[in-house]
Amino acid sequence: MHLFYPHLCNGCGSDLLQKNHLLCLKCINDLPHTRFAQYAGNPVEKYFWGRLNITAAHSEFYFSKGSLVQELIHQLKYKGNTAIGAYLGGMMAETLIKSGRFNTIDGLIPLPLYPEKEHHRGYNQAAIICNGMSVIMNVPVLNGCVIRQRFTETQTRKHRTERWENVDKSFAVKNARALHGKHLLLVDDVITTGATLEACGATILQLENTKLSIATLAQAPK
Ligand SMILES: [Zn+2]
Repeated sequence: MHLFYPHLCNGCGSDLLQKNHLLCLKCINDLPHTRFAQYAGNPVEKYFWGRLNITAAHSEFYFSKGSLVQELIHQLKYKGNTAIGAYLGGMMAETLIKSGRFNTIDGLIPLPLYPEKEHHRGYNQAAIICNGMSVIMNVPVLNGCVIRQRFTETQTRKHRTERWENVDKSFAVKNARALHGKHLLLVDDVITTGATLEACGATILQLENTKLSIATLAQAPK
């Protein structure tokens, strides 16, 4: 069977894989874990200080150009490799559990894509990551409760204040009852400035008695 259906490492192509793994031991050992989850005031949480009242935040890996992490996220977003997204999501979930700082999470919210973009890609990569996390954390993925409603082409050319206002209006809560009073974990693939997560998070935190934490697979330099 191995000859006809070779099971190869998603990182380096090696065929030396353990059962139920998508990466070989060498690639697993090479993954640059941040270890942020266990520390209050970690670099990702600092992004949101004075901007968004989050409970905790974490990024599982450092993202750098030409790295294994970049390659795997590229496969997830542009090559249809959803299995690697769920696999890395599962890895992040293990870290969140071990940290003890994400134990009150009630539901996972994938950062929504613009509908036309999700339609074109066929899936939301953040939802794929959530699926892998959900199994390990035993909490549901709350798809469709928050939506993204408008494409703003000029966004990247605007400065920060203008951009915030612009992005903020592009998210809306669709199912307030499902989110009300819960501790929600907003999930995305990569965090760079945190502006988009902030805008989506601000929309969610308009709900009374709702708490918000944030997790991304990777943290990219600004
Ligand atoms: Zn490998």
